[in-house]
Amino acid sequence: MGGSGQRVVMVIFGGVRRAETFSPQGLVNIPHLSGDLLSQSLFYRDARNEGVTAHFNAVSSILTGNWQRVDDWGKLAPTTPTLFEQFRKGLGAAQSDTWVVASNKALTSLIGASSAMDYGPAYGANVVFPKQLMIAAVVNALRTGRSRNMADREKVQTELQSMLEAGNYEGLGWSVFDGTERLDPRVRDTITEAIATFARGGGPTSGDELTFLVGREVMRKFSPRLLVVILSDVEAAHFGSYAMHLGGIRTGDRLCYQMWQEIQANPDYRDKTTLVILPEFGRDPDGSSTNGFFNHRGDTESTRNTWMMALGTAVDKPRIIERPIRHVDVCASLAALLGCPPMDTQGVRLSELRV
Ligand SMILES: [Zn+2]
Repeated sequence: MGGSGQRVVMVIFGGVRRAETFSPQGLVNIPHLSGDLLSQSLFYRDARNEGVTAHFNAVSSILTGNWQRVDDWGKLAPTTPTLFEQFRKGLGAAQSDTWVVASNKALTSLIGASSAMDYGPAYGANVVFPKQLMIAAVVNALRTGRSRNMADREKVQTELQSMLEAGNYEGLGWSVFDGTERLDPRVRDTITEAIATFARGGGPTSGDELTFLVGREVMRKFSPRLLVVILSDVEAAHFGSYAMHLGGIRTGDRLCYQMWQEIQANPDYRDKTTLVILPEFGRDPDGSSTNGFFNHRGDTESTRNTWMMALGTAVDKPRIIERPIRHVDVCASLAALLGCPPMDTQGVRLSELRV
């Protein structure tokens, strides 16, 4: 097994402004990030998205280290190799070592591998969209008249399981890059188990809760060396609900903390993992022509300027870094942690992260 033996878990939020997070009035929304994690972290106060502030391009830029300008809705793969491909091709890492688990419906499975020559899906990550899987099951249950009650989770669960068994995964919004119609049974069982846990849980739930549970199951079953979890409850902002947006921030804050706790509790991850947490971008400023927090289209500081937190093995000494960094700097830095050969990217390695 090539590489450094180090592991990387990255949690990417959707768009959150500084105003609602790391600002004096925003701290109330992020009690875990600011209260439990900040003091043990390397915190980059000024992490910039200088590319396209749309979801697919933003995540692609983080994952490739180059500002990507492909289709906003994920119809085209990133044009330069992702961290997954570099890791797999450069070090011979297995597909089961690289995963993306995402809530965001603006992403597609093309987030897992680039269209670059000599790379591509053969070296791509497993990509799973648990929320789309759940939604598809609910829609199917309603359409076929077998469940008239959206809240009937038992039936939804049965639907999901039968759909997973059926082997037709087309249109469910997720795929596994194994080049076959059939899922690896272990992958299928892992997803089924996480969804069953979600369905049994009761209480308020959300797409990000499900994404977290699936991510955690993937860690427990496959122990990937590189896991990227993409949360998007905060994107309820597009519907104009400030309360739901803040609710999404609070959920993400708690799930980041639960992820850190899982890393501490899981012997495969404890003491050899770096957890990196960052938003994709901010959101537009209040009073802007694009309706403020609803959107993230403005070429403004509120939209481009955000933050990044690193925890774990790569953190030599907890501190706050004032120097601005760019999202394209993240990829080269994580590649170095994993022991990948240096990547040719627009970004530069962050010297504060200890390799
Ligand atoms: Zn959005």
